Amino acid sequence: MSKLSGKVQTVLGLVDPDQLGRTMTHEHLTMSFECCYFPPSPGDEAVAENPFQMQHMYWLRQNQYSCHENLLLHQEVGAVREELLAYRKAGGGAIVENTTTGIERDMPTLKQLAKDTGVHIIAGAGYYVDCTHSETTRKTSVEKLTDIIISEVLHGADGTDIRCGVIGEIGTGWPITDSEKKVLKATAHAQAQLGCPVIIHPGRDPAAPAEVVRILQEAGGDIRKTVMSHLDRTIFDNGELLEFAKLGSYLEYDLFGVEMLNYSYNLSVDMPSDSQRVQALAFLVKEGYEDRIVIAHDIHTKNRLTKFGGHGYSHILKNIVPKMLRRGISQHQVDKILIDNPKEWLTFK
Ligand SMILES: [Zn+2]
Repeated sequence: MSKLSGKVQTVLGLVDPDQLGRTMTHEHLTMSFECCYFPPSPGDEAVAENPFQMQHMYWLRQNQYSCHENLLLHQEVGAVREELLAYRKAGGGAIVENTTTGIERDMPTLKQLAKDTGVHIIAGAGYYVDCTHSETTRKTSVEKLTDIIISEVLHGADGTDIRCGVIGEIGTGWPITDSEKKVLKATAHAQAQLGCPVIIHPGRDPAAPAEVVRILQEAGGDIRKTVMSHLDRTIFDNGELLEFAKLGSYLEYDLFGVEMLNYSYNLSVDMPSDSQRVQALAFLVKEGYEDRIVIAHDIHTKNRLTKFGGHGYSHILKNIVPKMLRRGISQHQVDKILIDNPKEWLTFK
């Protein structure tokens, strides 16, 4: 374990944390999101069958989960490789690829992409949300789940010798199910032993992130070394946001590039625009949380790749950073968010 201390573990091995550079802390390069298919509205079936035509692109952006084809990101390894080369050119250094068990993590492909592109890729250990847990996972004890997660970090995942460098994204819904609670406890136990970074996908309710933190903390997890993902679709009230921020996790805004009127999974949610995300970052910076913010795009569907008219993995570097600077976030603070905070988080204790 001491071997990992002070290092970051990528799919190509251990690296010095200073080598990472600008880092997106929540992305997917190859995965399937079939688990979360959402049937199209009546009358839209024909469009959903044939989505990648120019006249359907707006529909697809608004209904990205209502088309089977769009959920198969793993079919686009070639396009993703091109995207990663563009990401490097735009000044990107590293990507946390937090696809976990349940949404088709593919370690050999991640390793190949890292080799081909020179982007540091950090893979995720553990399990996604309840509906993707296998019967075996549901029956497995916390102790055994802990062993599996630790082994994915120390020895390799999915029968390979390619190692994960972070636990997560660990999937939870709302309310949190028994099986998800077990995985959260195993995550905390593994983190306590490894001193490693953890990243959580919370349920779509403002109370969900704090409840996850409570469970992790009770099981011995290190909240300062834990990222809470998807705050942009979870906590909308500034007062509630500050209450949550006090608990000490990293605060992740990771749906940059997603702008939609109706969020299929929770219609009561008003998905923010990128401008509103930047406003949230500026607010948190003003409140003194510049050391706790991390950002990403969480690309998990095909339509978000540039190949299909999407924003791609370089959107934050190319479009969001200039906007952050125009909204009063200093270059020094931008560098903290993109370089220093991910580095601190990803370094094993
Ligand atoms: Zn994700």
